[in-house]
Amino acid sequence: MTVSLDDLPLRDDLRGLRPYGAPQAPLPVALNVNENTHPVPEHVASDILDDIAVALRDVNRYPDREFTELRRAFAGYLGHDLDASNIWAGNGSNEVLQHILQAFAGPGRTVFGFAPTYSMYPLLAQGTGATWVAGTRHPDYEITVDEAVSQVRRHDPDVILLCAPNNPTGTPLPLDVIEAVYEAARGIVIVDEAYQEFAPRDSPSALTLLEGRPRLAVSRTMSKAFAFAGARVGYLAADPAFIDALRLVRLPYHLSALTQAAAVAALRNAPTMLAMVDEIVAQRDRITATLEALGYAPHRSWSNFVLFGGVADPAATWRALYDKGVLIRDVGIPNHLRVTAGTEAETTAFLDALASIGSAS
Ligand SMILES: *Cc1c(COP(=O)(O)O)cnc(C)c1O
Repeated sequence: MTVSLDDLPLRDDLRGLRPYGAPQAPLPVALNVNENTHPVPEHVASDILDDIAVALRDVNRYPDREFTELRRAFAGYLGHDLDASNIWAGNGSNEVLQHILQAFAGPGRTVFGFAPTYSMYPLLAQGTGATWVAGTRHPDYEITVDEAVSQVRRHDPDVILLCAPNNPTGTPLPLDVIEAVYEAARGIVIVDEAYQEFAPRDSPSALTLLEGRPRLAVSRTMSKAFAFAGARVGYLAADPAFIDALRLVRLPYHLSALTQAAAVAALRNAPTMLAMVDEIVAQRDRITATLEALGYAPHRSWSNFVLFGGVADPAATWRALYDKGVLIRDVGIPNHLRVTAGTEAETTAFLDALASIGSAS
């Protein structure tokens, strides 16, 4: 007899939910989950491997629970006068976000974001027993100060998740909106800067707002710009008191010695690891220009992907690209698809495949 989930005494608030499920298919051109498709350069990989080899000799012992060296390295990378006491890290920024929600959300509390936004936010919120509340954006996915403030006042959430630039739309979020949301909010405000490295160089990070705002946290990841998605390393910067809250909920020794060693070594090679960012940005802008020429309606993006409208039948176009060996993402927005900027060759493969399918609606 096969047992189904319905037969198990699952938590009532998890019944009927679906797990995160971006399709993973072994296609030649995978541009569906916003990875950096450039491999880690060979000399950097061998440098990282040297540090992992050293860490492996002590793997009979638990790792540094406070991952002090790694926190120092992140503080150095971020700048803005941050030090190790301002830094937290986890196995991907998803775990960092989970720690925040475990500490500040939970049963009877609410987590708010401006939809459409990162599909993991509702799942992370529900996982802690909190209720997800979806705010709204303009049709072009932008948010103004006045509307942001009135939505925050109306819902009065315990935690606010601001994705900047926003996934899946690519939309930037001006700092004045973040400041106004913070002032209007009673609860925690998280700015998820997973794609910040792909924004214009002169655009300020929410890190500049941390001083004097103890309820604010800025999260980052090594998964995108750093080409380190498989290593699972995310981090955040906030007031040291905020970091203390996260110590209450993390599992002891949550960052393995091997992960810590790999991340420290990768950060030491930050300039090389980040060298591909400019090329990815160039491919993103090429995607936008070519989609426009093909009659689609790409949205403004400060990230490493482009969301485009004007797709008559997203499921059919997604499938036609799949059959040509190109995997992109149907994020569930009517008449839209999302594509990650890959290498020049991958981007060409996507654009050629799309052009061969036929025109936009
Ligand atoms: C990809 C992504 C992350 C990063 O997740 P990791 O767990 O660090 O791999 C976080 N936030 C958003 C909005 C993302 O798109």
